[in-house]
Amino acid sequence: MIVNMSDNATPEQIEHVIQRIREAGFQPHITRGTERTIVAAVGSGGRRHEIEALCVAPGVDTVVPIAQPFKLVSRQTRPSPSVVEVCGIQIGGPDVVVIAGPCSVESREQLLETAHGVKKAGATMLRGGAYKPRTSPYEFQGLGIEALKILREAREQTGLPVVTEVMSTEDVDLICEYADMLQVGARNMQNYALLRRLATLQKPILLKRGPSATVKEWLLAAEYLLAGGNRNVVLCERGIKTFETATRNTMDLASIALAKELSHLPVIADPSHGTGKQSLIGAVSRAAIAVGADGIIVEVHPCPERAFSDGPQSLDIPQFERVMRGLSDPLRRVVAPLVSSA
Ligand code: PEP
Ligand code: MN
Repeated sequence: MIVNMSDNATPEQIEHVIQRIREAGFQPHITRGTERTIVAAVGSGGRRHEIEALCVAPGVDTVVPIAQPFKLVSRQTRPSPSVVEVCGIQIGGPDVVVIAGPCSVESREQLLETAHGVKKAGATMLRGGAYKPRTSPYEFQGLGIEALKILREAREQTGLPVVTEVMSTEDVDLICEYADMLQVGARNMQNYALLRRLATLQKPILLKRGPSATVKEWLLAAEYLLAGGNRNVVLCERGIKTFETATRNTMDLASIALAKELSHLPVIADPSHGTGKQSLIGAVSRAAIAVGADGIIVEVHPCPERAFSDGPQSLDIPQFERVMRGLSDPLRRVVAPLVSSA
């Protein structure tokens, strides 16, 4: 249930509502907007009728049910978009964020060359896998802690904040020491033990959509993070499994617009995994931004032909520079609101 306070509700009236929500057996989650405060009553097993009765409490405007199964992630709970900050970079703000770097960290030279190259081309954050979720156990699994140290050095040299994937609860503390944002990969979107653990942190989380997950399941995975106390969540569409085999996955652009409509969380797009093809990355990046994505995450490698993982979908540095020039089309932020309000 959502308790919408009236514009002129006093702090005491808001505090009273929060108190009553607790007494009724729910957790209160407060969103203080510029005009009004919204208090969501979240949880199971509480006494709903006591919340419904708050419609006559002083300072309350309306009490309405939350229409979707995801509550804290919903726009109903927070009508204005959230901005997630990663070391001063705002995701979900006015600027499009570009996260770039290799699929896997392979060596110091490979990562540093990529980091400097993408920084020069205008990237705002660096990506690089240290622990890799690979379909086959015989494929490169990542350099682990050695990769984390190289990522840290790249951050020190370039100033780019770093995002890297965490696959297991056991690695969370270690990765937190080195990374500025933790990626939950597509295969782990429904790893609830991992989500519950990450929910206890304040570290920003990049939550990829599972290849077979519906938008509702994706938003419910994000709900685990918010419900556990971590509001610093960015969603990432990375393509889903369909009957199509010409692309590695099918980039579900409509899901980006839909996720932005249903949720206040920032949404970015991963055209590398979404297409599996170097040649499509520029076009799909522009399309994602046109439908409202707050940024993109792109795989870049100094020599994709030699990459240990995901070479066919990695751009080399000159190709990445060209994609960046394509993105700076001044129409991009004009087009996006027109499309999302259509
Ligand atoms: C990756 O980012 O390299 C990766 C493994 O992504 P996903 O989880 O989307 O497959
Ligand atoms: Mn990859």
